[in-house]
Amino acid sequence: MKNQYVLVLHGGAGTISPEEIEAEKAYRDGMMVALNAGIAILERGGSAVDAVVETVRQLEDCPLFNAGHGAVFNEDQRHELDAAVMDGATLRAGAIASVDRIRNPVLTAREVMDGGRSVFLSADGAERFATERGLEMVDPGYFSTPLRRLQLEAVRRHDLNSQMLDHALAPRDGMPDGRFGTVGAVALDRAGHLAAATSTGGMTNKQAGRIGDAPVIGAGTYANDSTCAISATGTGEHFIRACAAHDIHARMKYGNQPLGQAMASTISETITPLGGEGGLIGVDGHGNIAMQFNSVGMYRAWVYEGYQPEAAIF
Ligand code: ASP
Repeated sequence: MKNQYVLVLHGGAGTISPEEIEAEKAYRDGMMVALNAGIAILERGGSAVDAVVETVRQLEDCPLFNAGHGAVFNEDQRHELDAAVMDGATLRAGAIASVDRIRNPVLTAREVMDGGRSVFLSADGAERFATERGLEMVDPGYFSTPLRRLQLEAVRRHDLNSQMLDHALAPRDGMPDGRFGTVGAVALDRAGHLAAATSTGGMTNKQAGRIGDAPVIGAGTYANDSTCAISATGTGEHFIRACAAHDIHARMKYGNQPLGQAMASTISETITPLGGEGGLIGVDGHGNIAMQFNSVGMYRAWVYEGYQPEAAIF
């Protein structure tokens, strides 16, 4: 029996005040462009892996989101980008961390996965690999936007040693819009396979060399055809310590919980008690989706084959 495809994306855990209608429209439009790119792939019978990679690539290129162009700054006023992809059919995975010259980190994560030699490459080695594979390289300044610099200054005024979720500073510091984070996508394709991808600039003012949950397989990204595909956004340290994405998989696999219940339990029983803030998106092998968060909002958009795409923030 042919499956019907499903695609879900997130643009980070965060909120926007209801007055900021203009900004909200821009974020919704950005998410829809990315969702439609993924839909186009699934619509012609393409794989879940191809769809999530292309969806995330589109979000990396959009300066509104904290991934690729528009990524946040670390404490050294530099960018260190992380990304991962996982194929639920084969359990192959690829991830990169702490790069600042690769235009689309998710494409390199995909190359790492397809290369098969390693799962996780970082910094110079990851960039050398990307260059060898012919991926597009850019000057680190490509990722910078004025808004991200303002955000860094705002955090450092507040506390030189704190790091903040992209969205978390704005309301308190009178920042303009643009406080939304990490991007990710999960998909079920018509062949019944699942995939997940996540990409991020991390957290504003993060320690140099710090790696978040996004590229850590089982924390911010996980896919397994026997259960679900998951992509996370939030305070990465807590998601790593909670093994968040794999925790949802394990609750489904060994505890027979449905996706929505497993995700709710992971948030309430592991992430929240650790003090973590953020959310997750997921899809299971039957095409059920879940999008849950303990932050005030989470930018997200989704589509079931044959239905209109939808987007939500709160
Ligand atoms: N999870 C990301 C990190 O900790 C940040 C985010 O989701 O905005 O690097």
